[in-house]
Amino acid sequence: MLGIRRRTFAGGVYPPEEKSHTEKKPIEEMPPPTTVVIPLQQHIGAPSEPIVKQGDQVRIGDRLSEPQGFVSVPVHASVSGTVQKIAPLPHPLGDQMLAIVIENDGQDTVTDAIKPDENYLALTPDEMRQKIKEAGIAGMGGATFPTHVKLSPPESKPIDILILNGAECEPYLTADHRLMLEYSQDIFNGLKIFQKILNVKKTYIAIEKNKPDAIRKMEEIAQGDKEVEVIGLKVKYPQGAEKQLIKAITGREVPTGGLPMDVGCLVQNVGTAKAVFDALRWGKPLYQRVITVSGPGIQKPKNLLVRIGTPFKDVIAFCGGYTETANKLVMGGPMMGLSQYTDEVPVIKGTSGIVVLDGKTSPTVEPSPCIGCGRCILTCPMGLVPTTIAQYVEAKNYEMAKKWNALDCIECGACTFVCPAKRPLLQSIRLGKYKIQTLNKKAG
Ligand code: SF4
Ligand code: SF4
Repeated sequence: MLGIRRRTFAGGVYPPEEKSHTEKKPIEEMPPPTTVVIPLQQHIGAPSEPIVKQGDQVRIGDRLSEPQGFVSVPVHASVSGTVQKIAPLPHPLGDQMLAIVIENDGQDTVTDAIKPDENYLALTPDEMRQKIKEAGIAGMGGATFPTHVKLSPPESKPIDILILNGAECEPYLTADHRLMLEYSQDIFNGLKIFQKILNVKKTYIAIEKNKPDAIRKMEEIAQGDKEVEVIGLKVKYPQGAEKQLIKAITGREVPTGGLPMDVGCLVQNVGTAKAVFDALRWGKPLYQRVITVSGPGIQKPKNLLVRIGTPFKDVIAFCGGYTETANKLVMGGPMMGLSQYTDEVPVIKGTSGIVVLDGKTSPTVEPSPCIGCGRCILTCPMGLVPTTIAQYVEAKNYEMAKKWNALDCIECGACTFVCPAKRPLLQSIRLGKYKIQTLNKKAG
């Protein structure tokens, strides 16, 4: 451990942190629900294909689907019981997607395929990647990119710096904070697995300095390890975004349209590190995760260990239900999270939190015309011109939006947050990115 430094990136905003509702609350295990809904698409890449059918009996940890190709991972049963149906159902990423519904038999029978391995560090990097894929692990910070793919950089892009991301800069969310306090050794063991797979020595554990107890805890664990340095970062949103983290810690700039591996870096979330350790050491597939449930619309905010597939409505009921003022349901934090139109959607691998806002924290204000104040430009951590990109998208001129680097937008929402005219900048740019990507695909 080499000490704490305080670094940051250009741009960004300072939304109210709102962490005090849950940061001191230990992770509580939520009893499994009566029914889980497990979508086949919970990662970036090809959806997996079901290998079970209606009426089948399954146990916790049983594989339910087969990945389709390299950039794909399977899903696993999070309760024991009977497959009730396989059907398109509301998905937190929008629309309806194919999901496997399991009726819980209340027995919590675990598959015998789960086998601990105390010699997991003797596995080769390829064997480790394979086990990570089989465990269905996808980035748990919310990006949901399959972890085995991220851990397979091409030879032409060697990685010399690994960053473990414990920044957790989104307001309200404290799940990673609690994980670092309560499972610091598991996270550190996961970090060692990443180091072995990538053959990387230099590793930073990045934590915003509003979590001094987590910084101390990770320092204690890393004590005496000269390859691992804990970095205390300035509290600023979006400090936890990959490109901003890399810039803050290494000074390296990921080029336009590029990836962290283009500058020799790889970022993994602390929750992913724990999931990887659980998979290799205990043979456990990813069928549960820690989430924060918070916001003024929730009666009893908590940090919870929940089974993947638990409907939001069950999680919210376990937290005492909605308050009278609740008016907006979000998966993730209020800055980058996705608004939900129903609480029937299930917790998926990328659900870091469920936040319910009220009329004060999420006021319904009509947007007015842009006044050209330039605040969105000064704030954008990617150095973009959000107002111009949004205007091109609104005019359906996706070619120009692309020329203004819309695809570099990391969807942090900082521009929307500062806009005095309440322009829906992020919403427009997100739509623009989708349209550009669709046009790119069509063009081959
Ligand atoms: S344009 Fe994108 S990256 Fe820039 S502030 Fe807005 S949402 Fe964030
Ligand atoms: S912050 Fe809003 S009002 Fe100001 S330039 Fe950007 S879009 Fe226009």
